[in-house]
Amino acid sequence: MNTVLPFTLRSLPQIPHVFDNADDVVRALRPALPTYTLNTTLIEDTANRFMNNFDGKAAFAVKTNPHPSVIQALCNAGMKAFDVASLPEIELVRSISKTAELLFMHTIKSPESISCAYFDYDVRTFSLDHEDELEKIVENTKGADDLNLFVRIALPKNDQASIDFSSKFGALPADAIPLLQAARKVAKKLGVCFHVGTQTSDAASYGNAINQIKNVIRDCGVEVDALDIGGGFPVPYEGEDVPSIENCLNVVRTALYHAELDDLELIAEPGRCLVAQGGSLIVRVELRKGDLLYLNDGTYGGLFDAGAMLRTAYPVRGIRDNAKFEDALSPFRFTGPTCDSLDMMDGPFMLPADIKTGDWIEIKNTGAYSHALRTNFNGFGESDTVYVSR
Ligand SMILES: *Cc1c(COP(=O)(O)O)cnc(C)c1O
Repeated sequence: MNTVLPFTLRSLPQIPHVFDNADDVVRALRPALPTYTLNTTLIEDTANRFMNNFDGKAAFAVKTNPHPSVIQALCNAGMKAFDVASLPEIELVRSISKTAELLFMHTIKSPESISCAYFDYDVRTFSLDHEDELEKIVENTKGADDLNLFVRIALPKNDQASIDFSSKFGALPADAIPLLQAARKVAKKLGVCFHVGTQTSDAASYGNAINQIKNVIRDCGVEVDALDIGGGFPVPYEGEDVPSIENCLNVVRTALYHAELDDLELIAEPGRCLVAQGGSLIVRVELRKGDLLYLNDGTYGGLFDAGAMLRTAYPVRGIRDNAKFEDALSPFRFTGPTCDSLDMMDGPFMLPADIKTGDWIEIKNTGAYSHALRTNFNGFGESDTVYVSR
């Protein structure tokens, strides 16, 4: 079954095939390239879980995983809206769905992308956090009267999130008030949006954010029609106990009720939580030196989040196609294929103590922020994607 040709590392069969799981993939393909598994049924089911528990419109944050099969799976699940940040993301979603609603939720856009989004792709929803951006939107949509404008509010720093977004995006409440008043004059629909920070480990972040927003809405003195609660919903990585989608959305529902904001039109922009568990990454051990495993993928490839900056503790398991591992597990560190010693992942990753050169590792929960962040540094960017059913 090994179809590796001398001039390529690719080993995919010509006919798309759905494998059972990662073990099945390794047995059939013995992949030399980093290989993603994608479980589109699980992604559809997760999207349904989110939509069934949310009393508003869910818009997938496309940056998380822009694989066309992911976008298609979400459309199949009935997702009607997508959060996009660039023209290529807009074109991607449009190439898959002619009817999906596109929300351009990057607060700082080029004039060209605003104009193209509005006139060529029917985008009507834009976010902003500064008066100059409001002017830019009005100018580049030629004073359109059908704009849905969302003012992004900066939240206090969230220490419970893996990446806090408030140092880069959002207007402070005092600045948001005049901005809402100015946007009201040109908006058909006016909204407020926020992001609690990605992979927030505390569902109360949503309640705190809604209480802040309540004050801004009260103090601005103009009618606000909609609230977009952003993303940030966490997934469990190794050894992490995080609130479920249902927990987070219950907190949102309760906070909206107490803040008397439950009559607002509601939007969410989930990213990570919809797709992380629907993907895994199969890598190969190219060499072992003690507890350091040299993999065929690293932080410049699909494992940026496992690097020193975020240290995401991906769950891992060893795969050996023709023999068994010993039962004992040991802690390992990973390094990638590039000629760069920053390409280190300290883990520790618990794997069979006898793992060795030529074994594979399935790195789980890599359906979010992995493929999207790959670079071709040192010529190691290539990867394959296969489909699995379990
Ligand atoms: C990245 C991003 C999201 C998705 O965040 P997750 O933490 O992956 O859910 C949603 N909205 C905006 C504006 C973003 O930048």
